[in-house]
Amino acid sequence: MKPRVVILATGGTIAGISHAPAQAGYASGQVTIRQMIQSVPDLDHLAVVTGEQISNVGSQDISFDILKRLTGRINALLEQADIHGIVVTHGTDTMEETAFFLNLTVNSPKPVVVTGAMRPANAISADGPLNLFNAVAVAADSDAQERGVLVVMNDRIHGAHSLTKTNTTSVETFLSPVNGLVGTVNYGKTVYFRFPFRRHTFLSRFSDLFCTQSRVMLPRVDIVYACIDMPPDLMDCCVASGAQGIVIAGDGNGNMNQATVKKAARMAGRGVFIVRSSRVPTGTVGRNVEVDDDACGFIVSDELNPAKARILLMLALTEKPDLKTVQQLFYTY
Ligand code: ASP
Repeated sequence: MKPRVVILATGGTIAGISHAPAQAGYASGQVTIRQMIQSVPDLDHLAVVTGEQISNVGSQDISFDILKRLTGRINALLEQADIHGIVVTHGTDTMEETAFFLNLTVNSPKPVVVTGAMRPANAISADGPLNLFNAVAVAADSDAQERGVLVVMNDRIHGAHSLTKTNTTSVETFLSPVNGLVGTVNYGKTVYFRFPFRRHTFLSRFSDLFCTQSRVMLPRVDIVYACIDMPPDLMDCCVASGAQGIVIAGDGNGNMNQATVKKAARMAGRGVFIVRSSRVPTGTVGRNVEVDDDACGFIVSDELNPAKARILLMLALTEKPDLKTVQQLFYTY
């Protein structure tokens, strides 16, 4: 019997239409899930595929309301014994954030695979149809189970924790620079190299948060980008607007100028959670390297980039944790 895979569509360039096939200008989120499935007839060689439209937006417009609905729907579908896996179609701009959010909040070992495209549906050499085909192949594959949320793009299988978008236009935009790929998929043929080593999905402490019609409110956490002569008062705006946490996209190993360190330490003393991440695309941020995190009351993001660190901190703050617990979460997830 063929496995059953449900595609949940959210929009993005994979559902985009360009003004002309050889022109850069286009609008995201124009093609419906029905049309997308019809455009890849060979999908039914892999699985019995059905689709649902969750949203149809460019991923720059994905919101936490959409994400809560998405993860709630995935959790409900995967409880059904006859559903083997899920594919989420999504824009590439914030794909790594959605994949990481799902990696922490999906409550199942079954495959959940996020995919998208760099070229609109009607562009020359559109990459969406093959990405969708490969994503369905992974979602239908029993060997993909227990590997957390995966991202399939351009024949690569990435883990949600490690991948990041590295190029604004190239189809080879996603890399997993610190930990490497989970595997590859070529015209539906899968090869796996490893299991992601960070905790995820059915083992995540956040996997019950959005199981049913959830009323969980996610607290506001902001990101402040470090640079030469960084003005520390940007952080005042965040806190005045209700932020309970601030992620610093620091220079190098999560650094910021002395004025910002002082301001952030004062805020940490008043109970604002300060996480040092990095604006550098690869590498980890270590504790007490050039900044005295112990004295300042800071948390380091370890491998998580600022956007993913923000998501982990938002979920962590739903539990009213202490500093030590939050730091431990950054070493665990
Ligand atoms: N802006 C688009 C989006 O994220 C880009 C893409 O999908 O490649 O929806």
